[in-house]
Amino acid sequence: MSLDPQIIQAVALLAQGDVVAIPTETVYGLGADATNELAVQKIFKAKGRPSFNPLIVHVLNRQWAEKIGSIPPQAYPLLDQYWPGPLTIVVPLLPQTTVAPSVAAGLQTIGIRVPKHPLFRKLLEQYGKPIAAPSANASNTLSCTTAEDVAKSLGSKVSLILDDTFPCEYGLESTIVDFSSPIPRILRHGAISQEALQLLKAPEGPLKAPGQMKRHYAPHLPLRLNVTVPHPGEAFLNFGSACPQETLNLSPEGNPEEAGRNLFHMLHTLDNPVRFSGIAVAPIPNKELGVAINDRLQRAATTEDTP
Ligand code: AMP
Ligand code: MG
Repeated sequence: MSLDPQIIQAVALLAQGDVVAIPTETVYGLGADATNELAVQKIFKAKGRPSFNPLIVHVLNRQWAEKIGSIPPQAYPLLDQYWPGPLTIVVPLLPQTTVAPSVAAGLQTIGIRVPKHPLFRKLLEQYGKPIAAPSANASNTLSCTTAEDVAKSLGSKVSLILDDTFPCEYGLESTIVDFSSPIPRILRHGAISQEALQLLKAPEGPLKAPGQMKRHYAPHLPLRLNVTVPHPGEAFLNFGSACPQETLNLSPEGNPEEAGRNLFHMLHTLDNPVRFSGIAVAPIPNKELGVAINDRLQRAATTEDTP
């Protein structure tokens, strides 16, 4: 079977220490060889990401993960169920790992995920080494779920954007679960709901999930939430039954999975100061994936720039 030419190109770029934008089942990732310190530093530079914000390492399977982190047996049932998939685990970092120091941002723990997207899996298989990849967007701005949005957000800072023929299935970042202390806790809501995991969320704090800034995922235009009647000039991002004022609708059927898939691309589309004065978003029920969607929207709407 002949290899996809863009995989061959991506492998060559990773091997020479460059960054590549990769579609995943969550959002687009900005990937570099996780064992190459200079390559990892290029990720931080391209995104304008603060050095205290650790990166998630992406691996092909659990065997690779076990060479990087110490995975406690209590994590196995969740890994059996959700790997490959949108679950990141935070576990103690193994001292003998080949992962470059900046990936963990000086912490004694590491975030690891086995992605499911077929293109990302093919790339991991061909490259043969772990790939560090945060979301492919300028730091604290909207995440991207299409190649076009990545090009708008990062432009020439990325050598190659792999195509998105097979889309980002969830459209929301991975759910992060901390397994580094005896009681596992959710550090970030994401593509797998809290109801499905049956775990509590850890209290927010500077040390638990560094980089989860209050202002995050932000568009250029001001964002107003829980709006039923938009102001004149505002774009109206609706959810549920169609109405005449809506500009776009996250899910006319009121389906949170569909809304998650559409969220970032619709926000990118509406984030246009030439057409609109702001973006007003309809209320989204705060359960199941709605919790992750509301977390993104609240961070996007805040003006407080603190952890
Ligand atoms: P991003 O890939 O851009 O969605 O960001 C990854 C997020 O994963 C970071 O903002 C951290 O909150 C979280 N993360 C990664 N590694 C760790 C870790 N070792 N401990 C706690 N949180 C982590
Ligand atoms: Mg991100």
